[in-house]
Amino acid sequence: MSLTSEAVIEQLGQIVDTDRVITDEPTLKLASVDHFRKLQTIFDTHTRQLPVAVVMANSTDEVSKILAFADANDVNVVARTGGTATEGGLESGTDRSIVVDGSLIDEIINIDPYNMQATVGCGVPLQTLEDACREVGLTTGHSPQSKPIASMGGLVATRSRGQLSTLYGGIEDMVVGCEVVFAGGEVSRIKSIPRRAAGPDIRHIVIGNEGALCYITEVTVKLFPFMPENNQYLGWTTKEMSEGFEVLREVMVAGFKPAVARLYDYEDGQLQFSHMADPDEVTIIFTTEGNARIAEATAEGIREIVAKHPGCKPIEPRLVDEWFNDLVWDETKVVREANRIRDERNVNRTTEVSADWTSIQKIYDAVIPRIRAEIDGITLLGGHSSHSYINGTNLYFNYFFDLGDTAPENETEELYMPIISIIVEETLRYGGSIVHHHGMGKARAPWVKDEYGTSYPMLEKLKAVYDPNGVMNMGTIIPN
Ligand SMILES: Cc1cc2nc3c(=O)[nH]c(=O)nc-3n(C[C@H](O)[C@H](O)[C@H](O)COP(=O)(O)OP(=O)(O)OC[C@H]3O[C@@H](n4cnc5c(N)ncnc54)[C@H](O)[C@@H]3O)c2cc1C
Repeated sequence: MSLTSEAVIEQLGQIVDTDRVITDEPTLKLASVDHFRKLQTIFDTHTRQLPVAVVMANSTDEVSKILAFADANDVNVVARTGGTATEGGLESGTDRSIVVDGSLIDEIINIDPYNMQATVGCGVPLQTLEDACREVGLTTGHSPQSKPIASMGGLVATRSRGQLSTLYGGIEDMVVGCEVVFAGGEVSRIKSIPRRAAGPDIRHIVIGNEGALCYITEVTVKLFPFMPENNQYLGWTTKEMSEGFEVLREVMVAGFKPAVARLYDYEDGQLQFSHMADPDEVTIIFTTEGNARIAEATAEGIREIVAKHPGCKPIEPRLVDEWFNDLVWDETKVVREANRIRDERNVNRTTEVSADWTSIQKIYDAVIPRIRAEIDGITLLGGHSSHSYINGTNLYFNYFFDLGDTAPENETEELYMPIISIIVEETLRYGGSIVHHHGMGKARAPWVKDEYGTSYPMLEKLKAVYDPNGVMNMGTIIPN
């Protein structure tokens, strides 16, 4: 027989100190949603199933005991560290859910400048690690816009990607080892080594699992020299997105590794660059960094490539530098944006996808007119490419819409999901991926079979093996 909520709370209190089993309603309401249903928090109109409790674990041993208890008693576990999820990964998914918060597992265990790696607890905020690394002349190279508010466990769990990804890679290129806890409480460590060929790379069962396969308690990531004095900032405007994509493609194919490589379309560009670009222009941005010779050669190579595109007009580097330094989102910006939405009832949402160079323009050309034609109340619609590869790039659609008469608690289903559906349909039509870096969460889980195609059974089998009783973040990645 299932335990009652009271019994769940009581038994959790035997595993951790009772003051770390939090059950007050305001805390549970906040824990019932993430940014996917952010309007429920902004307008305080929560409708989702509340978790039974938020449990603050402070060690791997506690996580192990909590997961053993949950597995034995059919209690769903929602892992949480920074709480900045955007795709519903933190929603309860069931009425017998607990949030296991790892933000107290926050020790920087080691910064090793000789072997160029750092080992941290899952609850270490990325900004904290980055600041500590910079004190000894190093950087993680990881710079998602949520750097000040996201933590290492969540960043690994969502396969996050930072603004400097073209040079340093995504989190999957940075994680060299980790410690995780599986449903039932089994603890596994994957040792930190530069590379090995001892069978499949099992790190990838952990990276991107979104709490649906295991709980990440510790990670070891690569470090890089921090040499901001060598940074170079480059920017151009031109008239056509196609020319912008072509510049990005040529830079990547030529083998250059700028830190930032971005292309903003017209409306998205005006949000950022109205002081440097006209409304009928798109904006191309690069930065280079690292070793002075490499940074200089990369900037020179990019300039040579752009010179072959006579439509491109240069932007003053100082303006690119100023823009870039204001890009990350701290708590103040999040609160300011929430206040703006409450006051104006105008909502900003984003959806990020990826595809090869042949398909990316087709997706852009298909999505933008469809949203304009099919969705009422759009007040801004655009997008940018912010992460490029030799074989393609991503597209981050950025859009605003008026709430109109829609109740804030229904915004996600009635206004946001129809737009996501258009983006997903067109991305799948042209063979792209429906998620570039935010994770599947519960938002994009309905399309998981379309995304994976004939490889879907591989994913299903992983879930069956590592979470046989289905207690790990139910409904995330794989829908209920
Ligand atoms: C303003 C803003 C800007 C953003 N910018 C970027 C960006 O530039 N790049 C980018 O990639 N993302 C970005 N994001 C999305 C978000 O920050 C990332 O997905 C981040 O990786 C989440 O980390 P977190 O610590 O906040 O995780 P959480 O929000 O706590 O959790 C995220 C997911 O991971 C799971 N999880 C959390 N901790 C663990 C753990 N220890 N073990 C297993 N599973 C766990 C959760 O269950 C959930 O499914 C942004 C979000 C916001 C709000």
